Amino acid sequence: MQILDGKEVSKKCKKQIFKQVQALKAESGRAPCLAVVLVGDDPASQVYVRNKIKSCEEAGILSKEVRLPSDVTQAQLEEHIKKLNNDDSVHAYLVQLPLPETLDKTRVLDLIDPLKDADGLTTSNLGLLFASRPRVVPCTPKGVMKILEHYNIELAGKRAVVIGRSQIVGLPMAHLLLGANATVTVCHSKTAQLSEVTRLADIVIAAAGKPEFLTTEYFKKNAVVIDVGIHRKALEGDKSKLCGDVNFDDVKDHLLALTPVPGGVGPMTIAMLLQNTLELFKLRLQV
Ligand code: NAP
Repeated sequence: MQILDGKEVSKKCKKQIFKQVQALKAESGRAPCLAVVLVGDDPASQVYVRNKIKSCEEAGILSKEVRLPSDVTQAQLEEHIKKLNNDDSVHAYLVQLPLPETLDKTRVLDLIDPLKDADGLTTSNLGLLFASRPRVVPCTPKGVMKILEHYNIELAGKRAVVIGRSQIVGLPMAHLLLGANATVTVCHSKTAQLSEVTRLADIVIAAAGKPEFLTTEYFKKNAVVIDVGIHRKALEGDKSKLCGDVNFDDVKDHLLALTPVPGGVGPMTIAMLLQNTLELFKLRLQV
């Protein structure tokens, strides 16, 4: 089985982004700036935000962190969003999800200026994607497409199954695959006989958020599988390790290719966040 190495592909993307940022800096005297809003102290979100800020540095992108306490009110959070919309030094920003349950995520996302929407999750940017006129594409599905492209995985005419229909992963993923002329089926928690559907697929994108539930019986021999899931699995003592939706050991002699967890889709999501920041900066500079 071939390992689809997202870490390697992301390094290549980051290098290209760095070069473009340097060129734009030389031309305009300015560098792109990404802001990240983090509400509360969820440990996983803190790690994601730290990695995003560190990756900005590697790509020559400026960054700014807006940290808010978990008891911030909806009105206070919305004030911060409005400030970021009006801050000319910030070219792109995102609100780290999930938000505490007391906050209305949809209202917050709808307040983000679509021309600063680094995650591509505003209704306007999702609408443009679904109208096949993409402007800012959500980072994870965009990263998956980059991996498939890097490894020359043919999509036209292939059967693709996406497991999951979230706005952040499953739905945009399905649309991008359709755009690449795959024949796409979207599955979800109410799908009957999931394995009977996934077994027909040449390519499976697993984004259900269920640890290691996908075993050999879910895939046809020599399928290509992209594992979007990220879970922390407890080991003996106080140790733990990351795993995906796919049971790696079970499928490793059955599939043609698979993304590992960690080191697969995760690094690509961050690289595409930098790419979106660069693209929004270029829109602002009109270059
Ligand atoms: P989500 O919003 O919870 O959506 C999960 C989707 O999977 C839903 O559509 C749900 O169906 C479906 N689902 C749940 N259980 C299922 C089952 N047993 N069979 C078939 N479908 C099932 O999650 P998400 O935000 O899309 O994220 C999915 C996973 O990807 C999570 O593990 C998340 O941590 C990970 N993730 C990773 C990255 C990365 O960079 N690697 C980025 C984003 C997310 P219903 O719609 O019917 O509820």
